[in-house]
Formats: sequence, C-alpha cells, structure tokens
Amino acid sequence: MPNFAFDNSYARTLPGFYEACRPAAVPAPELLFLNRGLAAELGLDLDGLDAPALAELFSGNVLPEGAEPIAQAYAGHQFGQFNPQLGDGRALLIGEVIDRHGRRRDIALKGSGRTPFSRRGDGKAAVGPMLREVLVGEAMHALGIPTTRALAVVATGEPVYRERALPGAILTRVAASHLRVGTFQFFATHGTPEMVRRLADYAITRHYPELIGADDRYLGLLAAVAERQAALLAQWMHVGFIHGVMNTDNMGIPGETIDYGPCAFMEAYDPRAVFSSIDAMGRYAYEEQPRIARWNLARLAETMLPLIAANEGHAIALASEAIDTFAARYRHHWLAGLRAKLGLAGRVADGDSVDTALGESWLDLLHAQQVDYTLAWRRLADAAEGNEAPLRALFPSQPGLERWLQRWRARCAAEATGPEAGADRAALMRRANPWLIPRNHRVEEALAAASDDGDLAPFERLLDALRRPYDEDPALARHAEPAPAAFMAEFRTYCGT
Ligand code: AMP
Ligand code: MG
Repeated sequence: MPNFAFDNSYARTLPGFYEACRPAAVPAPELLFLNRGLAAELGLDLDGLDAPALAELFSGNVLPEGAEPIAQAYAGHQFGQFNPQLGDGRALLIGEVIDRHGRRRDIALKGSGRTPFSRRGDGKAAVGPMLREVLVGEAMHALGIPTTRALAVVATGEPVYRERALPGAILTRVAASHLRVGTFQFFATHGTPEMVRRLADYAITRHYPELIGADDRYLGLLAAVAERQAALLAQWMHVGFIHGVMNTDNMGIPGETIDYGPCAFMEAYDPRAVFSSIDAMGRYAYEEQPRIARWNLARLAETMLPLIAANEGHAIALASEAIDTFAARYRHHWLAGLRAKLGLAGRVADGDSVDTALGESWLDLLHAQQVDYTLAWRRLADAAEGNEAPLRALFPSQPGLERWLQRWRARCAAEATGPEAGADRAALMRRANPWLIPRNHRVEEALAAASDDGDLAPFERLLDALRRPYDEDPALARHAEPAPAAFMAEFRTYCGT
C-alpha cells in the first residue's frame, strides 16, 4: 500500500462538513491514463507499482495509507435556481498532500460510487467524459490557466447506464481545494453563522493566508476571491473557453477552473456561443461568463453577511462594495491580456480606451465574418512580422480587415523602436496567442475511439499535442485545424453525468 504522506486538514478542521464514505469496489480496473509529471510534482511515490497495482490504487479498490475518504457537503444555484442539497454525489476527497512547491493539494476520486449525497444518481462516471476532463484540463494547464488537474483515469470494467450503456471510469482529480461558493451556501442554509465563519477561516488559512488575523478578513476574502475570479475569467475569455455550467457549486474558492462537463472552446468567434445541451437560454454563453462570475460572487457574499457586520444593512453595503470591484478587476485583467494578444507592450495617451476600442473592433470584425478565433489571433502575430497572407486568407471580405489593420499598425507604430520591433512583437504575440486549442471535432474523435473501440492512441496523440499549445509544429497541423462548419452547427456538449 503506497504512502502519499497525506495531511488531511479539511477532515481534521471541519468535522460536520462532510460524510465519511468508502469508494465502491470495481470489478476489473484498468489504467487508461497516468499523469507522471503531476505525480512527481505531488511527491507521490509510485515506484515499484506496476500497471495493475496502479489501476487498483486509482480505482479506489486499494487506498493509500492515511487516506480518509469523505464526501463534502455543498449546495448551489443551478441555472439560477437554488438547490440546498448537492454535495459530492459521485466524488470522494481521499486526502491532501503538500506538493514539491509547498502547496496543499486535494486528491479526489470522481466516479467512485454512491455517497450520502448521490440523491438519485449512481455515483458513477463514464470513460468518455473522464478522458475529456483530462484533455481539456491539461490543455488549460498548458495554456497557463489555473485549473484542477487530472492525475489518473481508470476504466472500471463495468458499464454505466446513460442513454446507452457506456464503459465506466474513475478520474483522480487534483485541486488546490474543492471549496466552492456552494460549500458556503450549504452551511449558510443548513448551518449557523459560526459554521460559515469556520469555513471562511479555513479558506483564508488555506488560500488567502495574507488575510489571517485581519479584522475585516471576511470582506477581504470576498475581495480576494473576486480578484482571482476576475483574473481567471479574463484568461478564459482570451482563449475562447466556455465553461458551460457556471453554477455556484462549480465555482471554486481558490480560483481554479473546476468541473469540466459541457465545456468547449469557441471556434468561429461568436459572443453568444453556447454548446451545452441543457443551456437552452444561453445563460452560460461565452459573453455572459464575466457577468455570471459576478453573480456567483454575490451569492458568496450573501453567505457571509453575518460575519461582515452585525447590522445587516451595513453588511450588505460593505459586501456590495467588495463585489462591485469585480467589474473593474475583470476589465483590468482583460485589457492587460488584450494588449499582449495585440502585441502592445507600451502605453499611449488615453491608452485604455484606445486599446479597448481597437480590441473590440477586432472582435466585431471576427464576429461579422465568422473567423476562427484562435487562428485569427495567431495569424495576426504573423502579420506583425509583415507576413499578412495567412491572416487575409481567414477573412472572406478584405476591406474591413484592411481598415482595421491600418488602425492596428498605427497603434503599433506609436510604440515601435528599432528595426527588430516587428519580430519582437510577433514573439510577444505568439506567447499570448496559442496556436493549438482542443478542437471540438478532434476531442470527440479521440473520445469516441477510446470509449467505443478501446483505442487510446488518438487520445494520447491529442494530449501530447495539447501540452505545447504555443509551438507551431507542422507535424501537428491536423490538431490545429478548426472543426468543419457542419460539425460545429450540430455540436452539443453534455454534462458528464
Ligand atoms: P455537476 O453537474 O457535475 O456539477 O454535478 C452537480 C451535482 O450532481 C453534484 O452534486 C454532483 O455530485 C451530482 N452528480 C452528478 N452526477 C452524478 C451521478 N452520476 N451520481 C450521483 N450524483 C451525481
Ligand atoms: Mg459540479
């Protein structure tokens, strides 16, 4: 039995905030994926474990020494409707480790069977959605976006029953923590202000230690979560990521992207893009995401009002002030990211409004001509070096592009220095504009091969490509191509339930 040197602060500090629960036994575990780099980062000693032993371990059949499997309680607003009783219905936190960088990380199983929070669900997960979480999560990580990580996926050897029978799987997920807005909502609803205080103090100690002991630390916690979410949302928007189900139970207190269900990357630019089969109203459409993040933060603020001030009116005023900083914080991060994407390193007079307008008119142009979002940015980097043909080839109509390029060149010229400026700008832009994102048709193709045919080769090739999103490699060209328009017209994503 391996020893992961667990140090389980949640279980120890917050009794009453979870239910102890064992993973269900699985009949024939088989290792599909192991993230050895992440295992090393976590300091997990897997030496001497062969594939069958690893499969037993990451299926939950064998627990590492010191594991204390628990299902965490949480509530949440799902599509705006409050559900007071969610919780880990198909996941178990098995323990926490301190990684090589001194950071505390949760190790959790997803798909490990029924828990006291399963309601009518079976507690299980299928191969396709779990490998999808690997692909998209690892792509996000490679793009430099805070995210939970996939450590392992094991096929269980038993079917799970959805619209049809699918091969079952368990994902091992690593997170800064699994604290959610919904965790606070659960204890504000069913518990006492004192329980919310204990949870908030735990969150502060674990994620925002600079606030420990501060008199206004709960207000500080709100502002700090708002700051991390603002930075995160700006990053999502800049790579065209659509989370798909930004319920309050899927918004993490540490500021990581969490819960890869019906998420997708945008292909042709469309601010209204939404792919989730259950999001008919477009509540979680691409352009809605920052607004929804702010809405979710307001729900977090509500849970902490009694901690912020004894007088409710006063508490609301203070909390609102903290949450209202989100818009400016988001704007700040978005504009900084936009400047990098546009290759603008310096400032000009009235720079914020000039650069915002330049960026917005670029996006309008992409929208009007339905240009691929990722490639448009990447080919703009080529244009910075004078190679405009690849960019032009993306636009069905040239005059609008030409007018915009004139504005952009003029803005660049306002800060350009020596003869190398164009090459420097292109290099800067290539670090801000990925060449490769998870293309929806390639993801689906890889998952179908794995789930239907047991062929992991396409999954492995795609994962390998997604690990280097900023390097343009002709050998990987098929992974960088946009999905055919006909594919995207039909494309729907599903919650991984
Ligand atoms: P999600 O849509 O994945 O964020 O999940 C929302 C809620 O449904 C959470 O409380 C999950 O634990 C629960 N849930 C999702 N799938 C299942 C399942 N197959 N069995 C039991 N609970 C589930
Ligand atoms: Mg969830």
